[in-house]
Amino acid sequence: MARTELALIRNIGITAHIDAGKTTTTERILYYTGKSHRIGEVHDGNTTTDYMAQERERGITITSAAVTAIWKDHRINVIDTPGHIDFNIEVNRSLRVLDGAIFIIEGVAGVQPQSETNWRLADRYNVPRIIFINKLDRTGADFYRAAETLTEKLGINWVTLQLPIGIEDTFIGVVDLVEMKAIIWKGDELGAQYEYQEIPDELKEKAAEYRQKLVDTAVGIDETAMEEYFDKGDVSVETLKKCIKKGTISGEFRPVLCGTAFKNKGVQPLLDAVLDYLPSPIDIPGIKVAPEEGQDETADRQVIPADPDAPFAGLAFKIINDKYGNLTFVRVYRGTLRQGDMVMNTTKGQRERIGRMFQMHADKREEIKEVFAGDIAAFVGLKDTGTGDTLADGADPVVLERMAFPVPVIDIS
Ligand code: GDP
Repeated sequence: MARTELALIRNIGITAHIDAGKTTTTERILYYTGKSHRIGEVHDGNTTTDYMAQERERGITITSAAVTAIWKDHRINVIDTPGHIDFNIEVNRSLRVLDGAIFIIEGVAGVQPQSETNWRLADRYNVPRIIFINKLDRTGADFYRAAETLTEKLGINWVTLQLPIGIEDTFIGVVDLVEMKAIIWKGDELGAQYEYQEIPDELKEKAAEYRQKLVDTAVGIDETAMEEYFDKGDVSVETLKKCIKKGTISGEFRPVLCGTAFKNKGVQPLLDAVLDYLPSPIDIPGIKVAPEEGQDETADRQVIPADPDAPFAGLAFKIINDKYGNLTFVRVYRGTLRQGDMVMNTTKGQRERIGRMFQMHADKREEIKEVFAGDIAAFVGLKDTGTGDTLADGADPVVLERMAFPVPVIDIS
């Protein structure tokens, strides 16, 4: 497998204050990526990301399974990150294996207390994030005020990539400030598509103002952007996108998008932003090995880059019991794993044989024969492997760190 294929993978989580729209957004993502034909409605708890009866009853997602969605030839593994404050241990576990996240706030209340908790947690793991301001169709929604709460409550440096066109009942689409055009949805039913239009006259001035903020931000962090700006008075779409990705991965600023998941406006550009701005497994250096006995968390340790040709190493991050038996979800960090391979559980010092392996889609499980560095798969029949254990090739039996998250690379140009 070529490194270029690794560039097509995104391992992401979606995090939000309860009721901000995480479940709805996840469902719409699965729908628009064409993998969910039977969309579950939130109120009856029949959503495709729900695996356990308990969470159906409570209407909240407490498991962290991974669902694979295909968008524009990329593979987006959506790792279910629980949002409820009681499940911080679960949140911790899932944050460890994702490379980026969509952080949803709602358009009426903006940042709510639990969003703050989740934000700080994601900070601890240096998770690159894009922010989605949802529910712009609701009475009382105000994009600008909601965005302001990002400064007030989180104290972060954000930059918006979109402006809403209309609000509440009249919300019809967004101005794309990168490409400087309007994206207008035709209808608000499930599956609604959009078309590009000219930016409406009454928004032209505001769009120019916010586009300038975006350009200033890019120029502030990147020399190519600065040169282009001094030469031509503007920055090209390509350079702008590179800069936004760079700033998102380094955490220097957080890009903001908006829409209404429920009314099916905003989801496709959000998916595009996941591809454009969140890192692939090769945009970040990789996971560190666990500290040795006597070493503390801050000690210099070996970093495992996502190399598919090196010996296998992966981390079990979730175990689910379903009608097929035990499913162990593993994030592969290095190497390639095939059905029938013997591996070491290096955490426990035991050998395991790899049986059948699957990738979970919203409406089906796909059996696969091999899985590569950077990707996620579920294994049936692992006997002694628990959540947080490392599985590795006996040729290089590394133990991966259980908690800390890889430090992002600053320069991706
Ligand atoms: P979660 O708790 O973050 O997973 O939030 P849900 O996706 O379950 O949404 C909570 C409630 O808000 C549900 O009744 C949704 O139908 C509703 N909802 C979600 N997104 C939107 C939206 O964009 N607009 C409106 N008006 N309602 C929404």
